Amino acid sequence: MVGFDYPLIKKKLSERKSIIITTHKSPDGDALGSSLALFHALSSFHDVSVIVPNEYPHYLKWLPGNNNVLIYEGSEQESDQLIAQSDIIFCLDFNKIYRVDAMELVLKKNQSYKIMIDHHQDPDDFCDQVLSNSSIASTAELIYDFLKAIDYNFNQEIATCLYAGIVTDTGSFKYSGVTSKTHEIVSYLMSFNINHTRIHNNLFDNQNKSRVDLLRVCLNNLELIEEKTTAIIFLKEKDLIELNYQKGDTEGFVNFPLSLKNISVSIFLVEFKDGIKLSFRSQSDFDVNMFAKKYFNGGGHKNAAGGFLNYRNMDKALNYIKTCFE
Ligand code: 5GP
Ligand code: MN
Repeated sequence: MVGFDYPLIKKKLSERKSIIITTHKSPDGDALGSSLALFHALSSFHDVSVIVPNEYPHYLKWLPGNNNVLIYEGSEQESDQLIAQSDIIFCLDFNKIYRVDAMELVLKKNQSYKIMIDHHQDPDDFCDQVLSNSSIASTAELIYDFLKAIDYNFNQEIATCLYAGIVTDTGSFKYSGVTSKTHEIVSYLMSFNINHTRIHNNLFDNQNKSRVDLLRVCLNNLELIEEKTTAIIFLKEKDLIELNYQKGDTEGFVNFPLSLKNISVSIFLVEFKDGIKLSFRSQSDFDVNMFAKKYFNGGGHKNAAGGFLNYRNMDKALNYIKTCFE
């Protein structure tokens, strides 16, 4: 864990500041839940804007405070102005500046005081303060620690946002990063009378028909590399167009093959206009962070990572993956 100067941050936050909270592109429940929890805590005293790089799935738009989120793509001028006027920028749930996509340049050039709170391995050196711990399952748990350490009061909105973040990044409390402290935090959050059933329903049981149509095609494409206990599934761009793909529709698809006996690694490929996005999951000692870093210009965690190939030939990509295992 990298050191973190709580007294200094507390002192900075003792005066009213202009604060930006940002997170990685295509924000997920942990990214947005963490950002909005921090927004609710800080906006009682400070001027706070949440700016995310691009659009996010509809099943996150119920989060309390969602109306305050500014999407950089399409609001570049307004966002650049807010960033230029800011005193402090919180960078949540990402460790590499390229993960903010179109916001990379403006963040790099900006001189505001930057604070990273994140749980990915090997954070890059672009923030003044870094609260980073890759053994923690979700950034939301680190936001809990942060708010406790700077003596902010919790409320139902903060608790709901953090619960959504924790549920998302722990696979509903099943991943190996879950600890007794995760459950202690959740126990505390539940003391604010949050509706945990509704949170789960909002996140997972509110899907488009297009998701089910895409899942059908995707599972039809299943390929097994049995000697490597690995499964591969994929979707081509034509499937996305034909089946009316909406952002977020393929979230979690990568996990389906892991339900198979004797399969411990799953790879999911989706072809977009600019190339092929890959998701990796592992339930064994196979380190998908290293694998994604070495062969697919990506990274993430040991058991969950992502990567990218900047061409659009699915057969070539599938063959390439097989050579990476040799
Ligand atoms: P997903 O498969 O859900 O897109 O990503 C899985 C995990 O890997 C997430 O924790 C995400 O933050 C991380 N990840 C995804 N793509 C990339 C990437 O291109 N670079 C890095 N460093 N991490 C990634
Ligand atoms: Mn996360």
